[in-house]
Amino acid sequence: MSKHTYKKKKVKINYVRFILSMLIIFGIIAGIVFLVQKCADKKDNDDKNSSSSNLSSSQIVSSKPEPKPEPTYEERVGKEYAIDIEPYLEYIEPEDKYEYVFLVNPTHTLASDYVPEDLTDCGHTRKDGRATQKMRLAAAKALQAFLAEGKKTGKVTNVTVTSAYRSYAYQNQLFTQYFNRDWATGKYATKEECEKHVLTYSTKPGTSEHQSGLCCDMHNIPSAEQYFAQKPEAKWLAENCYRFGFILRYPEDKQDITKIIYEPWHFRFVGRDAATEMHEKGMCLEEYIEYKGLDN
Ligand SMILES: [Zn+2]
Repeated sequence: MSKHTYKKKKVKINYVRFILSMLIIFGIIAGIVFLVQKCADKKDNDDKNSSSSNLSSSQIVSSKPEPKPEPTYEERVGKEYAIDIEPYLEYIEPEDKYEYVFLVNPTHTLASDYVPEDLTDCGHTRKDGRATQKMRLAAAKALQAFLAEGKKTGKVTNVTVTSAYRSYAYQNQLFTQYFNRDWATGKYATKEECEKHVLTYSTKPGTSEHQSGLCCDMHNIPSAEQYFAQKPEAKWLAENCYRFGFILRYPEDKQDITKIIYEPWHFRFVGRDAATEMHEKGMCLEEYIEYKGLDN
């Protein structure tokens, strides 16, 4: 091998080494650039993700505000029950809230053979020898809750039921008895005139709410008279009856509509929803039925 050839070979080897070194260096640089780029991309994505999740949670807050819970019945009327009302709710709030909302009067009569099927002891019958008074189941349970509340709060402790369900036959007997008594006084020129007078304080059979089994007369005086209204018990009953589904059926300021004198002792069950709405709107039953378009 000549010196020249050796030299040539050496130059060639150096040249190859140089190329290889350059390739390795280039590879390393390319690798570093690639890694740096990748890290930068990842950070970018992380930032985007975190900012977009912040955005979506803030969007949820702004577009879907926490729904306000419906006010409870007690919050709505601003009064709390003293008794546990839960066991009575199915009665005072009937599934069909208008089931008991109807009129019984001279133009909306009950048949002579109408007897409610679910009459039950309403409790609280005055203990003076009279028969146990009955009402329809929902009304009877509601009355028990009503008077239990009166007792628990100490507002009504001695009010008793003097009359609740009355049959057609019994109402007929009562009306005839009142008529005969008044006719015997000789104060009336004609029977029509006498009957007109009796109608100011009693009702003909078939036109009395008492036949519906949904009302009762209750007080703490010897017999039903308007001075009962002055008693604190009467005031509490009138102010709280709607919370138990009752209305004071013949109010003092609605006599021109009901055509019945003021009866602070006569409570009629209609269900809590209707009773509360009537209380809030200051309506008597005739007005409410017309307002709701429920005429029976
Ligand atoms: Zn009555």
